[in-house]
Amino acid sequence: MELTAVSDLPEVRPGDDLAELVADRAALEPGDVLTVASTVVSKAEGRTADLEEFPVSGRATELAERIGSVAGEQKDPRFAQAVLEESTELLIECPFMLTETRFGHICVNAGIDRSNVPDHDILLLPRKPTESAERIRAGLAERGHEDVAVIVTDTCGRPFRHGQRGVALGWAGLPASRDWRGEPDRDGRELGVTVQSVVDELASAANLVTGEGADGTPAVVVRDWAFGDLEGSDELFRDVEDDLVRQALREWEFEP
Ligand code: GDP
Ligand code: MN
Ligand code: MN
Repeated sequence: MELTAVSDLPEVRPGDDLAELVADRAALEPGDVLTVASTVVSKAEGRTADLEEFPVSGRATELAERIGSVAGEQKDPRFAQAVLEESTELLIECPFMLTETRFGHICVNAGIDRSNVPDHDILLLPRKPTESAERIRAGLAERGHEDVAVIVTDTCGRPFRHGQRGVALGWAGLPASRDWRGEPDRDGRELGVTVQSVVDELASAANLVTGEGADGTPAVVVRDWAFGDLEGSDELFRDVEDDLVRQALREWEFEP
């Protein structure tokens, strides 16, 4: 397996066609997986915004005050308002906002970024990253690059561990996970629970190449990796009903 960043991509602007930008710079082959950082997908989709576009509600004022008093610094209630508008549920409200985005992904601040955003205050996540991935995949096929899977990624923190890593927000051309249940281990014992989230693992691997700062390499080509014959599934985000941690958070309250 080989991971290679697509070089010489420009600053991405609203309306840019990412499939075209990548196809002009990478010799894609059938079976490749292309990962694309959500930052540039959002830029291409015009998801930049300015804080003045978010008139503040009472709830946002209350959240910014509460988080600000714990942090010991002023927090902009317009940012809290943007997070609320991008979210369907607030799982943690203080000392930081952990929310479910409208497409079902759970992350801090609804994934709104303030880095790598020239000319605007903030960058919202793509509205529907799986549709974004499907569009890029179709755009590649139109340019003769058939059978390239696409994963839209973001960098995210995780509970229980320090450090952030790449995760998949949307994908096209491959299932999200492969099911090892029923497969034998080396001693012939049947695996009982392992469902491998391949889109997250590919996103994490690609993020090593992408970098997080000024590298300018939001797209990575993964070559010589195959999904294989195991059963696939597109279930990545847990439902509340089978998520005990999330249920426990509904009862939890931060005490400074
Ligand atoms: P995220 O993980 O999707 O939030 O994106 P990051 O902000 O971590 O950026 C991922 C990569 O994309 C880094 O290498 C950035 O330098 C690069 N990047 C961000 N925006 C642009 C852009 O408009 N053009 C290019 N060429 N690279 C970008
Ligand atoms: Mn991000
Ligand atoms: Mn990143």
